[in-house]
Amino acid sequence: MEKTCLFCNIANNQTEKFLYENDKLVVFKDIKPSAPVHLLIVPKKHIRSINDISEFDGLLIGEMMIAAKKMAEEQGIAKSGYKLLFNVEKGGGQVIFHLHLHLIGGWKSREKNL
Ligand code: 5GP
Ligand code: ZN
Repeated sequence: MEKTCLFCNIANNQTEKFLYENDKLVVFKDIKPSAPVHLLIVPKKHIRSINDISEFDGLLIGEMMIAAKKMAEEQGIAKSGYKLLFNVEKGGGQVIFHLHLHLIGGWKSREKNL
């Protein structure tokens, strides 16, 4: 855990409401949603970005994907469809430098889906 990291603090000190939590990761709502459903899947362990994962993190990344799939089902958007997104470093749109997976969806059929 990095003391100055916002997502380390949220994930380890539960400063926001979690929609899901296990020993490795948490899920909470994005504070500035860009779609009707916009959740963040966040590991408790501090990893800066996808650039910093090693082969030992493979299981964790897989578990983030499984959690995202389950949350999509729970939110009722699995069938209609959704996006999973890792922004990587500044040029990739990353602003919080603690690994997180965006789960984005829930548009009505005629809405533009980003
Ligand atoms: P990034 O651009 O780094 O991939 O995405 C970071 C996301 O975290 C953004 O969508 C932003 O709205 C969200 N975010 C930033 N600060 C907070 C916060 O304090 N709480 C929550 N729930 N989301 C945040
Ligand atoms: Zn962190």
